[in-house]
Amino acid sequence: MSQTANGRLLDSLIRFGSMSRAEATLDTQLARSAVGAAIADLSRLNLVKTFPAVVAPGVAGRPSPRLELNPSGGYAIALNVRAEAIEIATVDLSRNIKSYMERSVNVRELGAAEALSTIAECIRSIEAPGKSPLCGIGIALPGIVGRDNAIARNVLALDWHDVPVVSVLKQHIGSQVPITIDHDATLGALAEYSCGAGRGAGRLLYLTSEPNGLGAAMISRGRSNGSTGDHMLQAGHLSVNPSGSRCACGSRGCLELFVSGRAIENAIGGVGSGTPGEVSAKLSTFTLKERTHFLRSDCINALKIGLVSLINTLAPDRVVLAGALAPIAAHFPSILTEALAMSVVARTEPVTIVPAALNNAMLIGAAEQALRGLKNDPILVLEKSRRTGDKT
Ligand SMILES: [Zn+2]
Repeated sequence: MSQTANGRLLDSLIRFGSMSRAEATLDTQLARSAVGAAIADLSRLNLVKTFPAVVAPGVAGRPSPRLELNPSGGYAIALNVRAEAIEIATVDLSRNIKSYMERSVNVRELGAAEALSTIAECIRSIEAPGKSPLCGIGIALPGIVGRDNAIARNVLALDWHDVPVVSVLKQHIGSQVPITIDHDATLGALAEYSCGAGRGAGRLLYLTSEPNGLGAAMISRGRSNGSTGDHMLQAGHLSVNPSGSRCACGSRGCLELFVSGRAIENAIGGVGSGTPGEVSAKLSTFTLKERTHFLRSDCINALKIGLVSLINTLAPDRVVLAGALAPIAAHFPSILTEALAMSVVARTEPVTIVPAALNNAMLIGAAEQALRGLKNDPILVLEKSRRTGDKT
């Protein structure tokens, strides 16, 4: 879908928050008159506020008026669907989470049809932020989705295969606003790339340890509206021990068997399910003996082999470690230094490995994805939203 002039200006405002009219002209690469028309449209749609130019004493040239994004000019509903729970949030245009709820439900056991009906119910029940219009619904799924962002192709964690998620949900909720699905780790990576620990990276490798697996995504430099992740990257199934135990994917000794949240909990002697909070709490009480034992564990060995292989094959300039890997990165920086020293790519070009910065990266990424329609053509999306009412 090609981007309208209004969409280009809104895209810039969402990225920068506020800017002068001169900066907007530069960033959007539109003619001055087109920027003027776009400002008038976005003001009418309540998406931008304009402020008169402040004349600074002693500065030559005509001062430029200031533009500010109105964060509540619209919102997205974001969902993160996991095997054992559904997280749902409303997110404003400045990526702030306005309301949040989590429903514990065994999505895998429900089967796709009933799970989608539960998801529709969650969408209907989340509280809308004030009078903001709904501009899109974005859903993060733990597996491979189609390139059309509409069909769940192979989501092993939920046992969903070729499920037409978007068309079924549209029938359930009758909304005309854009609905989009994507691979959860890709959305987490997009969020870290646009406003977290991946900011400014050229090639970002994102690895997230979730209770039941390891998600991975690769993001290459691009405008926020044009960035795309690699939907097929399944780094959790990189074999680090060919004679190891059998994985659900059919291969043996996969990386995620050693560094999923639960595997990490096991390696550190914890009793939780491997959430970042549980892992962090256990690591901060570690004795010297426990530390030494953990550093020699199969988990750490596999993590190092995995990092070296992935850095050598994907050549990122930044690696963001999220989920249960984030506290490990924070508590044991020596592991990361050792992995970098073992990689020929990292010895040639600078590569940095950092812990993730965002708490709800997948929800923020899902919201960002959901707002792509709005950033392409704000008039079209807001008209559809008004026609169907503020919500559903
Ligand atoms: Zn596997």
